[in-house]
Amino acid sequence: MAGERILLVEDNAQNRRLAQFLLTSRGYVVYEATTGEEALELARIHRPDLILMDIQLPGLDGFAATRILKGDAATTAIPVIALTAYAMQGDQERALEAGCDGYITKPLDTRGFPAAVRQYLAAAGGKEARPSHGERSEDPGRG
Ligand code: MN
Repeated sequence: MAGERILLVEDNAQNRRLAQFLLTSRGYVVYEATTGEEALELARIHRPDLILMDIQLPGLDGFAATRILKGDAATTAIPVIALTAYAMQGDQERALEAGCDGYITKPLDTRGFPAAVRQYLAAAGGKEARPSHGERSEDPGRG
C-alpha cells in the first residue's frame, strides 16, 4: 500500500501534524498545504493520487478550491476527499455538491482515518486495488 502520494490541505497545525503522522507512518508520501491557493498549486505540480481537503481555510475555502480542481482538466481526475467538522454536518452535503468524491469527519479517528484513506485510494483504482487476503472489515468508529 505504500507509496501513494497524498496532498493534505489543512490549516490547523495540530490536525495537520496528526494526519501527516498517520499517513507517513503507513508509507504514504504526503504533501502539505495550508491554504486553498497553495492546494491548487501543489495539486498541479505533483498530481497526487488523492487530495484531503479541509473545508474551512483562510482565503479560498475547500469548496471553492475543489470546484477549481474539478473544473481543470489537469486535476479533475484526482479524487478529493473533504475533511469536515463533525459539528458542521451541512458541510458534507455541500462538499459533495462542490465535487468532492467523499468526506471524512473530524476529529480524526487514529484508526478510522487511515482505513478510510486506504478505501478511497482503492476505490479510485490505486496501486492497492487488489483485495488483500485475510482482511477483516473493521468499523472505523462508533456513530
Ligand atoms: Mn480549517
